Amino acid sequence: MNDQIRFQLSQNDIPKFWYNINADMPVPLAPVLNPQTLEPITPEFLAVLFPMSIIQQEVSTERYIEIPEEVREVYKLWRPTPLLRARRLEKALDTPAHIYYKYEGVSPSGSHKPNTAVAQAFYNKIEGTKALTTETGAGQWGSALSFAGKIFGLDVEVYMVKVSYQQKPYRRILMESFGATVYPSPTEHTDYGRAILQKHPDSPGSLGIAISEAVEMAAKSGGTKKYSLGSVLTHVLTHQTVIGEEALKQMDLAGEYPDVVIGCTGGGSNFGGIAYPFLRHNLQDGKNTRLLAVEPMASPSLTRGVYTFDYGDTARMAPVVKMHTLGHDFVPAPIHAGGLRYHGMAPTISALVDAGYIEAVAVPQLPTFEAALMFAHNEGIIPAPESAHAIRAAIDEALDAKEKGEARVILFNLSGHGHFDLAAYDAYLKGELHNYEYPQEAIEEAMSHLPQVKL
Ligand SMILES: *Cc1c(COP(=O)(O)O)cnc(C)c1O
Repeated sequence: MNDQIRFQLSQNDIPKFWYNINADMPVPLAPVLNPQTLEPITPEFLAVLFPMSIIQQEVSTERYIEIPEEVREVYKLWRPTPLLRARRLEKALDTPAHIYYKYEGVSPSGSHKPNTAVAQAFYNKIEGTKALTTETGAGQWGSALSFAGKIFGLDVEVYMVKVSYQQKPYRRILMESFGATVYPSPTEHTDYGRAILQKHPDSPGSLGIAISEAVEMAAKSGGTKKYSLGSVLTHVLTHQTVIGEEALKQMDLAGEYPDVVIGCTGGGSNFGGIAYPFLRHNLQDGKNTRLLAVEPMASPSLTRGVYTFDYGDTARMAPVVKMHTLGHDFVPAPIHAGGLRYHGMAPTISALVDAGYIEAVAVPQLPTFEAALMFAHNEGIIPAPESAHAIRAAIDEALDAKEKGEARVILFNLSGHGHFDLAAYDAYLKGELHNYEYPQEAIEEAMSHLPQVKL
């Protein structure tokens, strides 16, 4: 009997190309709009924030984009990442299903995020950018960009959601150790931060507010600073497809092909990263893999948000895109400990969910942590709370397969480890966490201040 559990590739198997979903989108994407005029955005508007090569990638319809040699060199520090079969978990569940996971937690900052951070830092470096500004919630994205900035000699300025800054000192220290400057957002040194603090001196901050501050600092820098976003945009999802491209080869080594591919979704990048190469095979080769996006009930953009035009940030400075949204002024409930707090979603994922190519499900908080610990007890890895949403769904798939007596092949993305999220586990173990569903009234109220787009 083949009892292998690790399917390891060699350094030469690191993909040479990213896969760009724009080439194969089976449904049209809505245009991206300027937040002031609500007219289609111009490259000049974007050029204030991003280097030209990133803007070109964002709109490119080339199917495969070559990964620069300098980026592949850095990827070698942790790629290819392992793909494992969770045999102990299968046994604990007594399921006929086969459960595989791709583990992105082996990267320097502990998640999939360096896959795009390194690429973005590289393109900025060659176009002469001196510093990058960005936002971070829990600190995963800020850590990844701080690492990448240091590698390519760029200063990194991070606006960290204030409540996380206060509650997660270790992520801040990690960013500072990589040489970044970290501010608790809202701050006093942007117009938008000051405006928020005047109205709400005790504002805990939000991702939307932190994005606004980072965008404002880049826009006012006269070109020396650019802004970098860790999810949502198409180029970010493109960079993350190294995950799915490797997973395709590793599933081949395992001699199986997944019936379902699962990822958690905040802005959609780790999910798109693992799912899009499999979607390509669905679209081109008649494969029939189900693609399942998993989100928290506390922040249910795909399952309960509205598919419409909305601003990418709270201050309405970032572009307007068509996506599933809970409203740009969404502030998540403090009781929610699982991350994945962005109000919107990657436009490509939204369009594909809307057209039925991708499924979405929302899971409650307590069963998510329960799944995380069951996984840890059997596989030995404490997952990031974000990733635990994918684990919950993978376990539910395995239990469903058991009920139906199916040998279903399940692949999920374990997007990161939870070593900096132990306070959330502490709260769970002490019984301080609760299930929480985002209220319908709040969604309806938010829909009354969407941009009035006439197209
Ligand atoms: C940031 C993050 C996520 C959510 O972001 P996506 O863009 O949806 O992938 C998920 N898991 C981990 C570990 C993260 O750091």
